[in-house]
Amino acid sequence: MPAEEGVIDGLTRTSYDAVVVGAGAIGLASAWRIARGGASVAVLERDVAGAGASGVAAGMLAPVTEADFGERALLRLNLAGAARWPAFARELEAATGATLGHRARGALVVAADRDDAGELRRLHALQRELGLDAGWLAPSECRRLEPALSPRVAGGILAPHEAQVDPRALVAALVAACRAAGVEVAERCEVAGVEVAGGAARGVRTAAAERVAAGCVVLAAGAWTSRLDGVPPGALPRVRPVKGQLIELRAPGGEPLASRLVRTPRCYVVDRGDGRVVVGATMEERGFDDAVTAGGVHRLLEAAWEVLPEVEELELGRARAGLRPGSPDNAPLVGEAGAERLVVASGHHRNGILLAPLTADAVAALAAGEPAPAEVAPFAPERFASRAPQEALA
Ligand SMILES: Cc1cc2nc3c(=O)[nH]c(=O)nc-3n(C[C@H](O)[C@H](O)[C@H](O)COP(=O)(O)OP(=O)(O)OC[C@H]3O[C@@H](n4cnc5c(N)ncnc54)[C@H](O)[C@@H]3O)c2cc1C
Repeated sequence: MPAEEGVIDGLTRTSYDAVVVGAGAIGLASAWRIARGGASVAVLERDVAGAGASGVAAGMLAPVTEADFGERALLRLNLAGAARWPAFARELEAATGATLGHRARGALVVAADRDDAGELRRLHALQRELGLDAGWLAPSECRRLEPALSPRVAGGILAPHEAQVDPRALVAALVAACRAAGVEVAERCEVAGVEVAGGAARGVRTAAAERVAAGCVVLAAGAWTSRLDGVPPGALPRVRPVKGQLIELRAPGGEPLASRLVRTPRCYVVDRGDGRVVVGATMEERGFDDAVTAGGVHRLLEAAWEVLPEVEELELGRARAGLRPGSPDNAPLVGEAGAERLVVASGHHRNGILLAPLTADAVAALAAGEPAPAEVAPFAPERFASRAPQEALA
């Protein structure tokens, strides 16, 4: 059957109930959830699904060991995000037959020396004050749990409920689940901007000047969200790229290096349990530069080796870099962006994999004209609207 005139490759029509811009974890999970309500949905992706940060991420689902001073609202959000993961993983695996590598074995944050121990003691005091499930362990207890740890480890924090998922398996499963639910995913289709008229989103325009009409537009273009035009002025603060480098290693015999996530103040080590080990990640403010550097790889390997010396026996795989989407306060931007049914879902920074299920539920609610879950409401982009114009644009 000849395609309808003006229909983009990968799509079958020119008008949908919802169009999602960006096929990362956030855009795909949102599309899947919107389609569950019976809506027609298209996802437009400039490159291929998972080409952004979601295809690079380590996949830690770690709200407790990510908790930091002065971020209580974000902690509540991250805990709510983690709570949705087990059911989301079960549902996605059942819908697709895929295995996501979702494992909840806990995390151990270890001190490589006494300076680290002082820093981790302060972090542990904060975790206790916040009522989080995290216990202090003596060096011998750390090594009993993870025998590959260096004898020089000076203690650590055990957070028993932290989990992990394989982000690339997640993206592949989300694409399959979307397609099975009738979502059309068009790759190699760059969106130039959103079309707004009469105070409401009407659709998107591609870089090739094609139009797709939509009753709702979801902006989930990660670190590139601010490059989309047509968003009402002042409705969205700038989303900036925050570069992260990460190294993939392989244990020749498939022997596990660690059964839990192992973190230090300088790196983390994620053992996927099948011989694959990931060491991450740098945090760099370098604009849209996504080059892997010798210095980044060197610092990560050294930081992992000081607590897990067996790292030096592992085979070196690929080193990769990705761009996290960062908002001015480093917290997500989920809500309407200056027009009815123009929904943004970006700025997830270090926790976009963790927050994908919760964000997707929030986006589906907003797309249906309903309020987002209570934990997400404080993260609407309008929190920047009342601030000084320079800060909103910073
Ligand atoms: C090294 C590293 C480690 C990380 N580790 C973790 C972790 O352990 N746990 C965790 O929860 N999070 C982690 N993160 C963060 C996480 O990866 C991000 O927060 C998350 O992937 C953001 O998802 P997203 O869908 O918003 O963006 P992305 O995955 O970047 O997806 C955005 C998509 O939009 C597309 N796009 C951009 N512009 C356009 C356009 N104009 N038209 C069409 N499509 C467009 C891009 O090609 C891309 O595919 C890590 C990130 C990095 C870099």
